Amino acid sequence: MKNLFFLFIVFSFVSCKQKMTNRETTSEVDVTPESDEVEIIDVHSHFQKDRDYFIDFMKNRKMKTILVDVAMHNATDSSKVERSWDDYVALAEKHPNLFWLCSSLMGLGIDEPDFAQKEIERLKKEIAQGARMVKVWKNFGMVTKDNSGKYIQIDDPRLQPIWDFLKEQNIPVMAHIAEPVQAWRPLNPNSPHFGYYSDHPEYHAYNFPKIPSYETIIAARDNWISKNPDLQILCAHIGSMSHDVDMVAERLDNYPNIKVELAARFGDLAAQDSKKVRAFMEKYQDRILFGTDFGNSTNQLDLNVEELTREKEDLAADYDLLRTYLSTSDSVLIRGQSNVGLSLPKEVLEKIYVTNAMDLLKLK
Ligand SMILES: [Zn+2]
Repeated sequence: MKNLFFLFIVFSFVSCKQKMTNRETTSEVDVTPESDEVEIIDVHSHFQKDRDYFIDFMKNRKMKTILVDVAMHNATDSSKVERSWDDYVALAEKHPNLFWLCSSLMGLGIDEPDFAQKEIERLKKEIAQGARMVKVWKNFGMVTKDNSGKYIQIDDPRLQPIWDFLKEQNIPVMAHIAEPVQAWRPLNPNSPHFGYYSDHPEYHAYNFPKIPSYETIIAARDNWISKNPDLQILCAHIGSMSHDVDMVAERLDNYPNIKVELAARFGDLAAQDSKKVRAFMEKYQDRILFGTDFGNSTNQLDLNVEELTREKEDLAADYDLLRTYLSTSDSVLIRGQSNVGLSLPKEVLEKIYVTNAMDLLKLK
């Protein structure tokens, strides 16, 4: 089991890195940027290294983004954590008009009596550096264990002082808890996640029966939300319920303190009836935020001119495809899912792209 555990740590690492460097989307249509119409705040990106094209690219698109810290177990030594935080702080200091920051929380050392206090002290420092949100991710539930060998769930009472602190500070938590349900199911060629789990069967949670079930992790997440009604929670990746907007709607109805963001789950939306998804987006227009999971991890110096140009064009096409899906009724192909766009009204788009993020994160 130990080997499987380490494999899963590697899974988490590769899965996140893969999102950062691979194009998420493909389009069948020629996409015309609509950059002059609506501003965008991408609340979930991982641009780790600076680019000469950032300023023009983002200004042309009236775009700003939140750099979300990636903290994960070291692939060979699970007692250590690797983070992107310092890169993000440097980038946000260089381009304060383009980037904002989201810190992160891990569960390592949770058995130590001063665990929560130490984490709070670190978070205080990082909030002073500019963190406007704190991310927790699927380590809670799927990877990190305490000294008794139990997977640490997000509703673990040892984490409660941290939630109390964040409530006092009025800092929201971005919660990437669990994975798409397909990670626990047999491979399905029609799933938007088929490609990834086909290429990496060793990372398919279905093959790791010791990992708690999807239902167990989602129940712990829901319990955590209901126990902290004053904590603002942004459920990342549509709360790992992206396969079924009804499941998301039920949580949004039950828990007034949550919002959801869309990063890397547009394929799951495109797999569902577009009229139903459109009705969902319209009904919950005040509680949905635009995010992508796009990013980079390579130094610009390591790319030649052609590679840099291609990277910029791919990034533009990726953003444009998501905007096409949200704002037009054109045909799109996203992660193998063919559908038509949602054609959302401009006032709904403005909330999803900008206003909801400004409100949640108190951005100006
Ligand atoms: Zn991410």
